Amino acid sequence: MKNETKVLKFEELNWKQIETLDKKNTVLFLPISPMEEHGPHLPVGTDLITIRDVTTEAIKTLKTKKPDLKCILLPAVPIGFCEFNTDFPGTISSSGKVVKDIVYSFGSSLAEHGFKYLVICTFHMSIVHLKGIYSAMKQLESKYKMKTCEPWGPYFHANIIEKNEPKLGFDTTRELHAGFRETSLMKYQYPYLLDESYKNLQSIYRDLNSPRVLGKKFKQLGLKDGYVGSPARADVDYGRWFFNETVNVFVNATIDLFEGKKPPELPGRIKTAMKALFWR
Ligand SMILES: [Zn+2]
Repeated sequence: MKNETKVLKFEELNWKQIETLDKKNTVLFLPISPMEEHGPHLPVGTDLITIRDVTTEAIKTLKTKKPDLKCILLPAVPIGFCEFNTDFPGTISSSGKVVKDIVYSFGSSLAEHGFKYLVICTFHMSIVHLKGIYSAMKQLESKYKMKTCEPWGPYFHANIIEKNEPKLGFDTTRELHAGFRETSLMKYQYPYLLDESYKNLQSIYRDLNSPRVLGKKFKQLGLKDGYVGSPARADVDYGRWFFNETVNVFVNATIDLFEGKKPPELPGRIKTAMKALFWR
């Protein structure tokens, strides 16, 4: 059953209400993910819609789990860096620097008025996008001592999903973009946004981390429909599991952040890649 608790939205508050918030018990959540093609069957806003809903649900759960904590949802920002699929209409890519500036603008403006906790919520896992987010977090920490975290990157890039998910009988490690996982998620959350054609889409796999794909776009890699994985396998029960698992990751990371525990970190190989990649 869906939790009907009301979520406090930043854009609905006036400055007086914002001023009187108890800053040391308030956590702000910033959903940020780009418009990006997700195959011929999923909406371009798949990442943004998902992360906005996950964040909203996490805030509702936190209200019961941690009633002393005040959670505020910032408006979802439809921005991110997409490296592979700008050769499809609907993908809107910003530079990593823009991502950094946006996250830093939110964080610093809030920190100037005494806010201490910011959770950055993204479902888009491109390394340059994460580089923007983590550079902003580092600056917010050093300039304002602001406590920040980005919960999904460490979970996603450490492949914890594969360890935790129900056994499915096929290899899910190759479901990279608009495949089984995201299609299941949409089938569960928004069946009316899922185009029926998903049932007939052939499984297509590519290793997007291989050096051979560097600098290539999806169509050059033979991904003419813009997805990597097996959308036809989509399953509502898996979608429900995946959604709830994602919500839990955000709930736990927020509690840890608030209780002063060290937030989960990105795996070493991702940090190295982040350093090696130039701003784009
Ligand atoms: Zn996605």
